[in-house]
Amino acid sequence: MSSSPEPASPLDPALVRLLQVVAVAANESTSLEGALRTCLAAVCEHTGWRAGHALMVQPGGALAAADVWHCTDAARLERFRTALRDTPVAEEGGLAGHVARTGQPAWMEDVANLPGAVGAAAAGAGIRAAAAFPVRVGQETAGVLEFFSEQPLMPRPALLDAMVAVGAQVGRVIERARAEAALRLSEAKFAGIISISSDAIVSVDEEQRITFFNQGAENTFGYAVDEVMGQPLEMLLPDAFRAAHAAQVRGFGESPVAARRMGERGQISGRRKTGEVFPADASISKIEVGGQRIYTAVLRDVTERVEAEEALARQAEELARSNAELEQFAYVASHDLQEPLRMVASYTQLLARRYGGRLDEDAHEFIGYAVDGVQRMQALISDLLAYSRVGSRGGTMDRTDLNAVLARTLDGLGQAIEESGAQVTADTLPVVTGDAVQLGQVLQNLVANAVKFHGDAPPRVHVGAERNGAEWVIRVRDNGIGIAPEYAQRIFVIFQRLHTRAEYPGTGIGLSICKKIVERHGGRIWVESAPDGGSVFSFTLPATSEAE
Ligand code: ADP
Repeated sequence: MSSSPEPASPLDPALVRLLQVVAVAANESTSLEGALRTCLAAVCEHTGWRAGHALMVQPGGALAAADVWHCTDAARLERFRTALRDTPVAEEGGLAGHVARTGQPAWMEDVANLPGAVGAAAAGAGIRAAAAFPVRVGQETAGVLEFFSEQPLMPRPALLDAMVAVGAQVGRVIERARAEAALRLSEAKFAGIISISSDAIVSVDEEQRITFFNQGAENTFGYAVDEVMGQPLEMLLPDAFRAAHAAQVRGFGESPVAARRMGERGQISGRRKTGEVFPADASISKIEVGGQRIYTAVLRDVTERVEAEEALARQAEELARSNAELEQFAYVASHDLQEPLRMVASYTQLLARRYGGRLDEDAHEFIGYAVDGVQRMQALISDLLAYSRVGSRGGTMDRTDLNAVLARTLDGLGQAIEESGAQVTADTLPVVTGDAVQLGQVLQNLVANAVKFHGDAPPRVHVGAERNGAEWVIRVRDNGIGIAPEYAQRIFVIFQRLHTRAEYPGTGIGLSICKKIVERHGGRIWVESAPDGGSVFSFTLPATSEAE
């Protein structure tokens, strides 16, 4: 086996012709096999060599015969061809393998002397010598062209150079075939993605004629792809939307952005084959191919979402309306109830004063019950009024210093605190945005309850504040009788109390007012058990940087 160290010599006209034939084959062939055949034939014709074949490096890296042959006398060479085909490349004398490894041309004079089937077949066919040349793709050896001759064969340097050029030309064909295969693969992947998309994907050309319509589009619009190809996009749009859509697409076509969401200023709509119009979310992209602009829209039918949103909005409106009605009712009712009640109270008391001397002990007791009932009713009504006023008569949301609010609250509770021997302490509280009067009501109710619901020990109450992300958590902790977890929700419902009035006085409205006020401020309120058995009432208020 020999390699070529000799310098290159100028090409003769016959070699130039050979290279021309090979270059044309490389440019024009539609398949690698076709290009290989033309090249093998051209080389054999130019050199007078008997036969040539191609070997290709497989994806795993092994070299294998590609079974692409050129033979001048096929019948005589049949046995040799079969022997070569059936012998693994590694065992056939190593010529092609050597070329694949080194990337350099090589030849051998004594093929017929090789041991084994290949040597015997070569001798039978009169083959003496072989030469092999690399097929190059960049720096990589992608294959080998191997030729056989009846004459002893010592390639001229000029021929060796020409063969390197032939190998490079074949390499170009391989490169092209690889690029095409990669393109086919990526197209197949792309087609796969598009076909599994449940979104409608529709492309149009510059004249707004449909050029692509995926399965999702078929399902969404109810048209088969054949019905829409080449048709104007307008068929997929409701009449009222056409002009606006055309303007939108024109605007987008001229804008520098490559993709955008459609209908940014309102929902867009599509029209099904049945004529039904549906709301959609869509985005559109454009690409320019060969001077032609292609627009592709990805569109999702959002009928269900829009219906759900509308139902939700209706419900919210309904709720707000019935809430307002209820508040109005509670306000009017409690307001109007006060008047007759005042009458009952004053006349019962008048009765006791004027006719006191003529009534017996029992009558006085009954009058006492009546007056007590009236007072309770008055307290209930006044609380109910306060409750109904939270939403409808709330003040403005201003910068509110909770320290000042608490100070006023404790002033107001002075007597109750003193009588119960309570000790009330507080952290520094934040400044928030809120209705100062209402926040005062919340603190007043919570601190009053903390003082009221105590056991044997004198009440200890602490008002704390803690920042938690975007909100403040205000806590009122006591050491009182506590609340069983199963009642933790119920006590915030209007009129719900856990004790008789004899045990602890009250109307059961305070916490429901607190809840309403806190929610009006965008917060939440809840109760937990304190570690020492008392309760901790916590409520949140949004922390606004403006207030701080
Ligand atoms: P009221 O205080 O007029 O009864 P509220 O709505 O303020 O009405 O409270 C409802 C119920 O929640 C109370 O009756 C009481 O059973 C329970 N409760 C409220 N605050 C506390 C507290 N700090 N400790 C124990 N129980 C409480």
